[in-house]
Amino acid sequence: MNLSQVEVHEASTLQQAAELMARWGDQARFLAGGTGLVVDLKTDRYWAGHVISINRITALRGLSLADGGVRIGALTTLNQLARSTLIRQRFPALVEAAGEMASPQIRNMGTVGGNIVGAVPCADLPPVLTVMHAKVSLWSPEGQRVIPIEVFFVGPRQTVRRSDEILTEIFVPDPQARFGAAYARFGLREANSVAVAGVAAGVVLREDGKVGEARICLNAVASTPKMVAAAESLLVGEILDEAPIARAAEAAMAAAQPISDVRGTAEFRRELVGVLTRRALIAARGRAAGGTQ
Ligand SMILES: Cc1cc2nc3c(=O)[nH]c(=O)nc-3n(C[C@H](O)[C@H](O)[C@H](O)COP(=O)(O)OP(=O)(O)OC[C@H]3O[C@@H](n4cnc5c(N)ncnc54)[C@H](O)[C@@H]3O)c2cc1C
Repeated sequence: MNLSQVEVHEASTLQQAAELMARWGDQARFLAGGTGLVVDLKTDRYWAGHVISINRITALRGLSLADGGVRIGALTTLNQLARSTLIRQRFPALVEAAGEMASPQIRNMGTVGGNIVGAVPCADLPPVLTVMHAKVSLWSPEGQRVIPIEVFFVGPRQTVRRSDEILTEIFVPDPQARFGAAYARFGLREANSVAVAGVAAGVVLREDGKVGEARICLNAVASTPKMVAAAESLLVGEILDEAPIARAAEAAMAAAQPISDVRGTAEFRRELVGVLTRRALIAARGRAAGGTQ
């Protein structure tokens, strides 16, 4: 669609945004950084006569320590996330994912909330947040609800969010002792290329060095971020060396449901899942053992 047809409204509070959304309903979309929405409008993926900018809502900004974890405001940009000392110290896998996305210009505009709500199957943050047990908060005039991110996505570009709900923040709980997580992804170029496949892994090592908990989540190889329960049960109780890692990689390859498109064939993506699962698990193990998460 021609963007000159779109009327832009600016909200300064959640209440104002809700009133505008109630007024324009099906014809409206919320706008954060616009790096996903503007492309979607220009390429006719969606039509919206009205766009409601939430950028002035200060309640959606900021990164802070919260009760037992970190609160990430939905308007936190990808670069703010990648550069945050708070995040770097606690959740280096998030820095890894955010720092590899898109390009510096897009990372200055694109937000964490937009990456999640957009629900594009190749989005980089959802699998990492999923292995970290993150929760998302949705606000509407009817109230606030908090949902584990792993049940947020229901299909490509589809979530459990109602169209009048605003994603306000993401809560990432402090991990258990000896937890480590990592994200490995493959793109066709260094910058401005979305993931052809990606794997996030999180492990907790027990005092005896064996795996106490393992979480593996794939992206770009299914319609939503895909948890690999089979790989996890193969790892718990094991010393995380070559053989169990290889078995988990096989299970992740079996769980993937890739498609063929311009970026790669389904077979290539499945192979990538095996390689990336190994890389992510080895890096997660190193962080768990070194106490750097
Ligand atoms: C060149 C290019 C490269 C890219 N590379 C990557 C990449 O490597 N990895 C990747 O994951 N993504 C990539 N993207 C996609 C995009 O930049 C990111 O997903 C970004 O985080 C989207 O955030 P945004 O603030 O721009 O979202 P917007 O475009 O503003 O919004 C996206 C969607 O979410 C909704 N929305 C946004 N915020 C909220 C909220 N708080 N509450 C309710 N609804 C909301 C909007 O209505 C819209 O439907 C790329 C995009 C471009 C143009």
